[in-house]
Amino acid sequence: MKKEEKRCCQMCNEILVGRIDKKFCDDQCRVMFHNRIRNERVPDLKTISAALRKNRLILEDFKKAQSRTQRKIHRTELIQKGYNFTYFTHHVSKNQFGVFDVSLIEENKEEYSIQY
Ligand SMILES: [Zn+2]
Repeated sequence: MKKEEKRCCQMCNEILVGRIDKKFCDDQCRVMFHNRIRNERVPDLKTISAALRKNRLILEDFKKAQSRTQRKIHRTELIQKGYNFTYFTHHVSKNQFGVFDVSLIEENKEEYSIQY
């Protein structure tokens, strides 16, 4: 048997007494601990929605700049404008990333086209 070590509450660091498998001093600490974990997992929605709106505006700018013929856009052009490839609203298909009502089609590793 392992030598008894001082165990502390995972929330408030109080020394625990009682059952060996105890992790928290009481229910309040247990609930606070789990709430904190859950809150840490929730991403910053303001940052994400700002990135999505920016992506949508960038695609809009390309739309305005494009003539009727759809040209391919190089990945670096999108990056230069500040496009964030991490964020899209949905998958239209495997290589087509929706940003609200517009989508970005990955033609190959370097080139994209936009579908309005
Ligand atoms: Zn505690």
